[in-house]
Amino acid sequence: MKTIRLTVVTIAVVALAIAITFAQSVSRGRAEVASEESLAPHLHEHQPRLAYDTGTAAVWQDLERLGTIASALHVTAHPDDEDGGMLTFESRGRGARMALLTLTRGEGGQNLMSADFFDALGILRTEEQLAADRYYGVEQMFTPAIDYGFSKTADEARQKWGEDRVVGAVVLAIREFRPLVVIARFQGTPRDGHGHHQMSGIAAREAFAAAGDPTKYPEQLRDGLRPWTPLKLYMDNVHSNETWNVVIHSGDYKPTLGDTYADISRRGWWNHRTQFGGGYYAHTGVYDSYYKRLAPDGEGADKEKSFFSGINVGITGMAQFWNSNAAAENSPGASRIHSPAGAAPAWLTAGLEAIARNVQQAQRQFSAAGGNGHPEALAPVLARGLGMTRALRRRVEDAANRPAGADEVARELDLKIRQYEDAIADALGVEMYAYVAPEQQPTGFFARFVWQDTPRVVIPNEKFNVKIELTSRSPLPVAVKSVGLRASDAAWQLPADQTGGRVQEDQAAGAGQRAQELAGDHAETWRFELQTPAAPVLTRPYWHPRDSVEHSWYDLDRPQYELRPLAPYPLSAVAELTVNGLPVKIRRRVLTTEHVKGVGQQFVPLMTAPAISVTLAPRAGIVPLATQTVALTATVHSNVEGGAKGSVALDLPAGWTSEPANAAFDVEKQGEDATLDFTIHAAARDGARYRIGAVADWNGQQFREGYREVGYMGITPYPLYRPAAYRTTGVQVQVAPGLRIGYIMGTGDSVPAAMRVLGVTPHPITPGELASADLSQYDEIMLGVRAYVARDDVKRYNGRLLDYVRNGGVLVVQYNTFEFDHDYGPYPYKMGSGQEVTDETAAVEILDPRNPVLSFPNRITEADFDGWVEQRGSRFFDSWAPEYEALLSSHDPGQAPQRGGLLFARYGRGIYVLQSYALYRQLPEGVPGSYRLLANLLSLPKSSAR
Ligand SMILES: [Zn+2]
Repeated sequence: MKTIRLTVVTIAVVALAIAITFAQSVSRGRAEVASEESLAPHLHEHQPRLAYDTGTAAVWQDLERLGTIASALHVTAHPDDEDGGMLTFESRGRGARMALLTLTRGEGGQNLMSADFFDALGILRTEEQLAADRYYGVEQMFTPAIDYGFSKTADEARQKWGEDRVVGAVVLAIREFRPLVVIARFQGTPRDGHGHHQMSGIAAREAFAAAGDPTKYPEQLRDGLRPWTPLKLYMDNVHSNETWNVVIHSGDYKPTLGDTYADISRRGWWNHRTQFGGGYYAHTGVYDSYYKRLAPDGEGADKEKSFFSGINVGITGMAQFWNSNAAAENSPGASRIHSPAGAAPAWLTAGLEAIARNVQQAQRQFSAAGGNGHPEALAPVLARGLGMTRALRRRVEDAANRPAGADEVARELDLKIRQYEDAIADALGVEMYAYVAPEQQPTGFFARFVWQDTPRVVIPNEKFNVKIELTSRSPLPVAVKSVGLRASDAAWQLPADQTGGRVQEDQAAGAGQRAQELAGDHAETWRFELQTPAAPVLTRPYWHPRDSVEHSWYDLDRPQYELRPLAPYPLSAVAELTVNGLPVKIRRRVLTTEHVKGVGQQFVPLMTAPAISVTLAPRAGIVPLATQTVALTATVHSNVEGGAKGSVALDLPAGWTSEPANAAFDVEKQGEDATLDFTIHAAARDGARYRIGAVADWNGQQFREGYREVGYMGITPYPLYRPAAYRTTGVQVQVAPGLRIGYIMGTGDSVPAAMRVLGVTPHPITPGELASADLSQYDEIMLGVRAYVARDDVKRYNGRLLDYVRNGGVLVVQYNTFEFDHDYGPYPYKMGSGQEVTDETAAVEILDPRNPVLSFPNRITEADFDGWVEQRGSRFFDSWAPEYEALLSSHDPGQAPQRGGLLFARYGRGIYVLQSYALYRQLPEGVPGSYRLLANLLSLPKSSAR
């Protein structure tokens, strides 16, 4: 049975090695997907490349990678949890193949950069993580687990995610990446803090034990995926004064890279800007992280030189897979560390030894020639090594009586072939850019300095051009065998590959030549005419958007991409060079280009998108029964070249009408939006739920969903799709009339939009107004979410805000974090540890039902806390002066009652309120009670309290 399965795999692998290694279809099995295009884009596919990945620095790292089969998987819970210093040290400093498995995409985190939360934040943090990974030099994986918000215990995480599911996802990651070592970031105990952290530690241990056992998660073993037994397991979160086995000195300086590993990783980690707003440089000096070995032989205090001590991670170490893996499959956790290579055939051992000698020769020569700035001198040596590796790979394929482990040797040799190709291209200084080209190319001498922005997306049936620029910057001439395009979607009809130097155009250097060879500063360009298929696979998340933020596990629309950060982009360019008579392939994504003021030129991979996209904002809300009115805005985004005219109508519940019934749009330019306002006259009943949809009509086609690009300046944008729909509930809610509300915007703040649902239009207070305007014109001023971080002037003019209250104003301070723990109020308070009530169903006790916040104009009851999402609130206050009155109390299971979430004080002739309940999470989800509480907070100036 097993033999048959492995034979099938073997054929698939051979076919892949022969075929060009890019995805051609989305209907294939997972193992094929994983081996064709690695889980994360190849380091060299990111453009422009980091300085660490170019020139002699790149060649030195390529040679380190060639010389080892070391590999490790680092398991964490959220983007930003990783030990970036360790990853960078192992990948860039030791050449180990490293992957980072982040259980979630961090959907429940904060956002200091934009108004994206939940699913959108998950996409944004995926891109931030990928940006960080470029610095670490690692591949990236995510499980379908969702960060549903802070979790105090592993038990809560276990219950929400299902332990079996999490462990299964980590097992899958181990079976796909096939690491020699697993490195858990967390220990799986309360010491890790966050319940997700604990669960990631637990899952790493359990998966380490289960991945090699074919009876565990056997459903994963279809499509040719095989069990895999990693050899060692380590855990992080260990201090120097505790038992440890390995220490990583990431503060080491590497002159070839011009930096310490700690600093390189810091530059990567800064990309988690939604969480920290940017980073800090590492202090110079020692950066050590300590790791404890859990298997094999856990609890020993012996000091090891590295994670890979005791394992032959040299090239000859591949021989150990030949016979031993089959046995290891059936003895999970079994150590093969000290077992000899077994009876690997002599030809294999000899072949591996020859490759190892070739790499050593290249390394010696690099020290001499590379040090003189001429790494191209290595190309002939490396080409010889590439030839030997390809030959050995064929021999492994053709071997009689192949044992099960032969596939592992083949896989390792495939990695070496790719690494040789990278090393040769880097030694020669080969670079290739493929990008969507404008129809009219600039000409003349200055053309090389001119870039025209190109649309980021192509739509069905669109004709467009792709230009490929190829250069090999060393003096050594290199022949171009062919240049072409590959699609990740089988629906594309691609032009045939072109041979070397066939097309010449508008190059300042060598215009008009028909060159076959590249060298020096000479560049060649190729131009391809393409047409998007009528029904292309759209560039979008392969997971399904959640209907409710209470979902804790993504449903996958395209499960073949499970674990990948994103589904593949549609087009790549492939060039085949001939170096010393051997073919060497390089691959790059097809990009689009845009110049952004202040940031400069940005390259973003080309995406496929619909012609028309329609969205509704907001996404959820309420119908106040008093007005039976809903204001909605439909946004039509057109990707049609030359303009698009059409109309939008709403799908309404029976008996509801909209004004207008049908709105026309006329978008003149590609990439632009039209907004259409609708006023809906509802006939909602109290507590009843409704759905409103929007349908755009263009060119005889209907569109019912839309996307927006998530991201901020400098981070790669990615589309988030949503059905054009609005969820709403009829709610009995009153607001005092004639309110003049001033609002200071916070971070990612959608509270003002919710105010408008209640019929209140807040006035945004600018820094200039806060500094000098007469604030008494406002009945009330509300500070947005984390206003003390979002606006520096709020700290500076805090005194003016307090004066405003003393003179009779109402100030409502919404949720802040520790930046607010500095006595900004009229009376002392302490946030202290900043307690959170994470259970969104935790009972809420009303302490003073007569206080106007809880009684005017709406009587707030326990029912108003039904249907909340994610949490009750966080950063509640620990202690406060007696002038503050606590209005509500709530707590998680096992937690002392928390009364510091809503505090009310009179000050002078005014009112000062500290409000830390997570209204800002509830309002965009249309939670009825949150609107009633907001209405009361807004109505305070008209209450009897004043
Ligand atoms: Zn975390």
